[in-house]
Amino acid sequence: MTSGWSRRTVLGLIATAPTLALPGIARAKGGRVVVVGGGFGGSAAARTIKRLAPGIEVTLIARDTSFVCCPGSNTVIGGFGRIEDQTVGYDALAKDGVTIITGRAEAVDTDARTLRLADGSVLPYDKLVLSPGIGFFWDEVEGVSAATAGRIPHAWQAGEQTVLLRRQLEAMPDGGTFALVAPVGPLRCPPAVGERVSLIAHYFKTAKPKSKIIVFDAKSKFALQPLFEEAWAALYPGMIDYRLAESDGIVRAIDPETRTVATDFDDVAANVVNFIPRQRAGDIALAAGTADETGWCPVDPATFASTRVPHVHVIGDAAFAPPLPKAAAAAVSVAETCAQAIVRDLTQTDVAGPQWHAGCYSLAAPGHGFEASTDFHLANGQVVVDEATMRRTPEGASAVDLQAAADKAELWLRGIMGQVWG
Ligand SMILES: Cc1cc2nc3c(=O)[nH]c(=O)nc-3n(C[C@H](O)[C@H](O)[C@H](O)COP(=O)(O)OP(=O)(O)OC[C@H]3O[C@@H](n4cnc5c(N)ncnc54)[C@H](O)[C@@H]3O)c2cc1C
Repeated sequence: MTSGWSRRTVLGLIATAPTLALPGIARAKGGRVVVVGGGFGGSAAARTIKRLAPGIEVTLIARDTSFVCCPGSNTVIGGFGRIEDQTVGYDALAKDGVTIITGRAEAVDTDARTLRLADGSVLPYDKLVLSPGIGFFWDEVEGVSAATAGRIPHAWQAGEQTVLLRRQLEAMPDGGTFALVAPVGPLRCPPAVGERVSLIAHYFKTAKPKSKIIVFDAKSKFALQPLFEEAWAALYPGMIDYRLAESDGIVRAIDPETRTVATDFDDVAANVVNFIPRQRAGDIALAAGTADETGWCPVDPATFASTRVPHVHVIGDAAFAPPLPKAAAAAVSVAETCAQAIVRDLTQTDVAGPQWHAGCYSLAAPGHGFEASTDFHLANGQVVVDEATMRRTPEGASAVDLQAAADKAELWLRGIMGQVWG
């Protein structure tokens, strides 16, 4: 992983990381809360509710017995991170008293207040929290679908997809072409596109220097563009051809057999294609009726309650609460707001007003990082950026500052993983 990071410093950070628990304010009173999604938002919400109000029965529906974190997954794709280090389990949550059910939530009866799982079991709830992450609009580029993701990976949900993309890059010949197709927003963690391009370029530079990267981006600009362009000119000159919407960056079709990417004016035959589709809230959020026509879920930012369906809260990437970014840090921060609101409702106790943090770190290479962190608060029912808390790596930053941001990236990741699952 990134240099400068030691087990000792990470443990130190975990030890001092803000805990998910506020003082136990509602021990006696109860209710039933079901949380869907064992990723950043869902795990943090389940744990916080249980810690705030041990009398509440909290059940977490997790897709699998473990969860693979997206933050840091680009280092696996770049060949210097390990998927094992991205993977967490639910033992600590179970120890805190959260009931873990491994399964898939399939349908919500919002009148009866029940959730049905794929195995047919039905769970009643007083409050339902949905944190299913993202789903994809698969029908917008001809030739690719959920069924072709085993050949044309997106790797925008970590795990098998991450490993698949890495294997394809390893099998690629030196002198080959890697094509990344990026969508318009809103998308999960926009700077992760530039980070992925960077870390694949780092791999090629060290292992396959004759290879090239073509990025097709349907947008007119991309997150942290000046910082990435500056880094690419210095670290990977001539390797990355980044085509924005105006320069034929909009992809119309991909042939999964020949791995040919077609735009209005060009057909590019690539060895590996990473197609990241346009995104929406995860399926269960749509099935519950919490999503609007955009595919995302409007919420009241004071509580993260759905504005469309009573007794249902939507958090994490699935919620639409700009300017909060679709980022793990924001998902965990928002989970605390949601947990506090639910505890307040079920136990009639007072809790603090919401405040959120989104720390975002990206790597252009090992030891070369950028920071873009901000706090947010609620003002007149709107989410507002705390301008004074904004921290941005400037263009022209020194090698020392870039190294410090890379170290901070690693510390942040290990800290938040420890905070939510440790
Ligand atoms: C490459 C990459 C790098 C990133 N780097 C960063 C970073 O550096 N910093 C940062 O802050 N953020 C980063 N992110 C974004 C971060 O991963 C997400 O914002 C975060 O995971 C959102 O949390 P969530 O709870 O909404 O969704 P997730 O963490 O994805 O969790 C959702 C979970 O719900 C499960 N689920 C979905 N539907 C159901 C169902 N019906 N039943 C049961 N379970 C279900 C899913 O399988 C998944 O396990 C990155 C993302 C990517 C793709």
